[in-house]
Amino acid sequence: MATSNIIGPGGTVGILGGGQLGRMLALAAPRLGLNSHIFAPHENCPAAQVAARRTIAPYADERALKAFAGAVDVVTYEFENVPAETVDILERLGARVAPGARALAIAQDRLAEKDFINSIGVRTAAYAPVDDLSSLHEALLEIGRPAILKTRRLGYDGKGQTTIADDAKDLGRAWEEANEKAWAEIGARPSILETFVDFDCEISIVGARAANGDIALYDPPENRHRGGILHTSIVPASISEKTAKEARRIAATMLSALDYVGVIGVEFFVLKDGSVFVNEFAPRVHNSGHWTIDACACSQFEQHIRAICGWPLGDPSRHSDAVMENLIGAEAENWRGCAKERQLCIHLYGKTEARAGRKMGHVTQLKGRQEPNLAKDAADAPA
Ligand code: AMP
Repeated sequence: MATSNIIGPGGTVGILGGGQLGRMLALAAPRLGLNSHIFAPHENCPAAQVAARRTIAPYADERALKAFAGAVDVVTYEFENVPAETVDILERLGARVAPGARALAIAQDRLAEKDFINSIGVRTAAYAPVDDLSSLHEALLEIGRPAILKTRRLGYDGKGQTTIADDAKDLGRAWEEANEKAWAEIGARPSILETFVDFDCEISIVGARAANGDIALYDPPENRHRGGILHTSIVPASISEKTAKEARRIAATMLSALDYVGVIGVEFFVLKDGSVFVNEFAPRVHNSGHWTIDACACSQFEQHIRAICGWPLGDPSRHSDAVMENLIGAEAENWRGCAKERQLCIHLYGKTEARAGRKMGHVTQLKGRQEPNLAKDAADAPA
């Protein structure tokens, strides 16, 4: 364990999780002279492929966690569904974990998340807890239709949710049957019902808070989804400066209220009048911040490493406009085509099996950047 709050070059960052976010964190650390150590259950996962050190073990393996805690100076996580018990064990072992267990616990439960967001005076869609069919009926009467039923836990990329349309007009058998179907679709698990928000667009704020309270926020991208999965992030978003300012204010409020250390991703719905609702937050680096690798001097991944290691935060300003597109499933097969495009920055995650809906990589197109004049440079070069 580090004795000072600053973990300098030569120190080791422990990362729970083996996916692409862990991979990009593991790549950012060595740039600052730090080592990355991945803890993940699967051999040859995207993060383990690039990290200097790795522990391949189940998240509940206490012996492996103990050795891991002794080998790293700070522990972070790359996905919010890492078991809370794993983080508890690490904290009991004296590991420094950032972001802390509280932000993780809140983000793991959609009800706790919505309650927290509203408790600090930030607006979300109207919602109600649903624990069984009769509370679903009650919640629908309270909230109205259309509405979205979401499982409280383990939902991501549009999984664990279903829309309840506004088609059955009376409260008779058809209405009950539609509700029974929705309840069965999400596996009859503790859930929340949310008003369906007729939003204009979706944006996010990816930003960081340091332990000393400093905050650095990236520009908000406009996020477009396909089948519940993020597909494209565009910066700048086509929103007013007032909307962007409000989203920034909310993200900063959330970071401070959580006493947060590290990078957070806050997702917003922008309504027709320019006001915003928070949809959810992720206590980690975020897919809608991938463009920062290529369009900012300090990426969200480096920023996270800086924050959790006690370094000053980097400059989040953007030197280019950018369009980031995820390569999902078979889309990654066109990597050769992508490689031919100038100004397209390619990132592939080392996943061998291109299953439908699986994020295989992403590309970022930079716009508005000063193009190097190669012809002129060649002419100027000494013979
Ligand atoms: P989530 O898993 O909550 O991030 O939801 C995935 C996507 O579903 C969001 O990015 C939205 O596009 C859509 N969505 C989620 N909740 C709502 C809502 N209350 N109203 C309208 N669309 C929603």
